[in-house]
Amino acid sequence: MIRVQAVAPDSIGGELGLVPGTELLAVNGRPLEDFLDWEFLTADERFLLAARLPTGEEIEYDIERPEGLPMGVTLEPPRIRRCGNHCDFCFVDGNPEGLRTPLYIRDDDYRLSFRYGNFATLTNLKPWDMERIVEYRLSPLYVSVHATDPTVRRWLLRNPEAPDIIPQLGWFAERGIAFHTQVVLVPEVNDGVELERTLAALYGLGPAVLSVSVVPVALTEFSKHGLVRELTREECRAALTAVDRMATRALTERGAPWCFGADDLYLQGGEPLPGPEWYGDFEQRENGVGAVRFLQTRIAAAVDRLPDLAGKRIGVVTGRAMGPLMPQVLADVAATTGGRFELVVVENTLFGPSVTTAGLLPGAAIERALTDRRDLDFVLLPAEAVNDDLVFVDDMRADELAGRIPIPVHLSYDFADALTECGVRSAECGIEGHTPHSTFRTPHHGVGKGDG
Ligand code: SF4
Repeated sequence: MIRVQAVAPDSIGGELGLVPGTELLAVNGRPLEDFLDWEFLTADERFLLAARLPTGEEIEYDIERPEGLPMGVTLEPPRIRRCGNHCDFCFVDGNPEGLRTPLYIRDDDYRLSFRYGNFATLTNLKPWDMERIVEYRLSPLYVSVHATDPTVRRWLLRNPEAPDIIPQLGWFAERGIAFHTQVVLVPEVNDGVELERTLAALYGLGPAVLSVSVVPVALTEFSKHGLVRELTREECRAALTAVDRMATRALTERGAPWCFGADDLYLQGGEPLPGPEWYGDFEQRENGVGAVRFLQTRIAAAVDRLPDLAGKRIGVVTGRAMGPLMPQVLADVAATTGGRFELVVVENTLFGPSVTTAGLLPGAAIERALTDRRDLDFVLLPAEAVNDDLVFVDDMRADELAGRIPIPVHLSYDFADALTECGVRSAECGIEGHTPHSTFRTPHHGVGKGDG
């Protein structure tokens, strides 16, 4: 059973008399478990819907739904599938107090993997889930593989029951399901020979594995430092060599690199990032893979639309990860607009200085950094640092922050979005004018530090 949260006026749901609190029981006699059932089973042009109104009255509706006409029904949020693993590097376990409540939930949910690109381990799938993935063609899924050797993977996940991942992915691949995969690299566990083995095994699954990213493990001040450490510069370089070797092979045999190092792997290894063309469609950019090049590409594409900002002084807030890379990006924007862009690198006061991604910056740290900056005309804040409700990781609302600092602020993914929307009048736009369009994704499988 799923429950209605809201119904849009002038929609099929509104015409039927569905109201918030209505329980949606079944479609064509098939019980509804969650939003996936709802979306897939109501996609037909005609179906029977059994529902129970808040009054207790049960009704069966015979619905005709002309193609493309929305049902107009928003469902209550699904109950998230909890994770049964206990990775030493788990981001959630390393959370300090005082964060938004959902950030304490260790999700491992194939439905969110399909819908939002959250990485899942697939260790908690029941036979029913597997059939459902195939039936609804939930593809591509984003899968945390980490290692393909079953013993090493079970050790990393701290889960002796974790199924053997290669046969599992192979079973899905035979049924038309594809994957983007990631390997969170833990020194002396799944790097070196183990990494080579993992890449080879994933490559051996053929085109069903669309990509693999290699991401260095990252820890917060609150992580289990006695059990896991970060990679050294040399270890990052060794991993990049393995990634390059596999990518070169894939490029020759399949025409695309297939295997990517996260931006942070290059940063920590002191190696230059590949050019933007290397990343194709930037499919793992939200995992910190090609995020910098993606940003530069977006700016280049918007050059003609950027306004004249001559005489303006614009602050750009970022985390320490992007600090060294941002000047290259800002130079392009400054050259085009004539504005003076000034980097405001903010240290993460919540997770500790080792967490350097802009996406995890708490509102309080940004407030502290901007409190006396009356010299700026306006400031761009990383939009990925807030969720859909415009709330920072430490529960501070974006409008609250905007009210506490002396200059106008704008949420921005790539500069071009905020600057072109507001133009030179951007100082008057205010934070409410910008609504981020992606969900805040919790990097449960280690703290991504290179994604801006
Ligand atoms: S890192 Fe991911 S898979 Fe591991 S315990 Fe945390 S939520 Fe679960």
